[in-house]
Amino acid sequence: MPDPQSAIRNPQSGEPLFRRMTVVGAGLIGGSLGLAARQAGAVGTIIGVNRSAESRETALRLGLVDEATEDLAAGVREANLVVLAVPVHRIVALIPEVARHAPESCLVTDVGSVKSPILQAGDAAFPDGRFVAGHPIAGQERSGPAAARADLFQGATWILTPSARTRPEAVERVTALCGAAAAQVVRMDAAWHDEVFATVSHLPHLVAYALMDAVLHMERGEERLRYSAGGLRDFTRVAGSDPDMWRDIFLMNREALLRSVTAYREAVTRLEDAIRIGDGEVLRQQLLQARIAREELLHGS
Ligand code: NAD
Repeated sequence: MPDPQSAIRNPQSGEPLFRRMTVVGAGLIGGSLGLAARQAGAVGTIIGVNRSAESRETALRLGLVDEATEDLAAGVREANLVVLAVPVHRIVALIPEVARHAPESCLVTDVGSVKSPILQAGDAAFPDGRFVAGHPIAGQERSGPAAARADLFQGATWILTPSARTRPEAVERVTALCGAAAAQVVRMDAAWHDEVFATVSHLPHLVAYALMDAVLHMERGEERLRYSAGGLRDFTRVAGSDPDMWRDIFLMNREALLRSVTAYREAVTRLEDAIRIGDGEVLRQQLLQARIAREELLHGS
């Protein structure tokens, strides 16, 4: 039987998969990866690059990183792997800087929720195929280093969207790291990833924010909210997420998201029409179809 440790440690030297891993943005996702990779013995030293002094202090105190700096150039200079875990527009902006300062053998990956623009920037900055675009399907509403957890990726899917340029061995090494964090890697085309996640992730966040906004703008909206029970609270859970992060995701995945919003608006209009004309049969059919789809989603078809 193959040794499961052989993917994350060199069986001859006992060296970890990555001797020095630099996490740029050791927050919820980057910090959790640091914890999980260390626990699995997949990395040696973890360097955190964070802009705020408070985040650096928290990341050090909670053991998400071994060293912390605000200086990107210094942080990546001796790295074997750089993980970009900042908001999506910052990932695109930082890729050329990482390319300028990281060693030539260093692999680079990211965890951003939108993939095509990031893959494009990564391929342009690393024409030798060292950039592996990725997106872990794990998270929660709370963000920042204090929210990081070693088990965040346990059993989660981690999508990698390599291009024709991405080196297969770079994909394999990043896959091994995701495996060390107990995630299952799935490969996907970047454009299709963005189309799918516009529908299953970005649209639900937009609708949750929009629903809260709609109620607030209604007459005596705040008073209405005071009566809200499980329905509104459950439905809008994801509107508790970081507005800056979601603004960036919405803008970066603009075209695909707008296509999903159109489809959603059409579904609302179908319901609206049936209610307006009092067509109970059409209304019931639409609700029933939606309920069956949801049951299949939860329990498998
Ligand atoms: P977070 O706010 O918890 O962490 C981001 C960290 O980056 C913060 O500590 C912040 O101080 C730091 N930072 C911001 N700009 C920086 C810069 N220029 N240089 C250095 N540090 C900087 O956010 P998160 O939830 O961990 O999200 C990070 C990335 O992961 C985003 O790209 C997001 O799309 C992606 N992602 C998030 C989730 C989720 O559910 N939260 C899930 C999957 C992927």
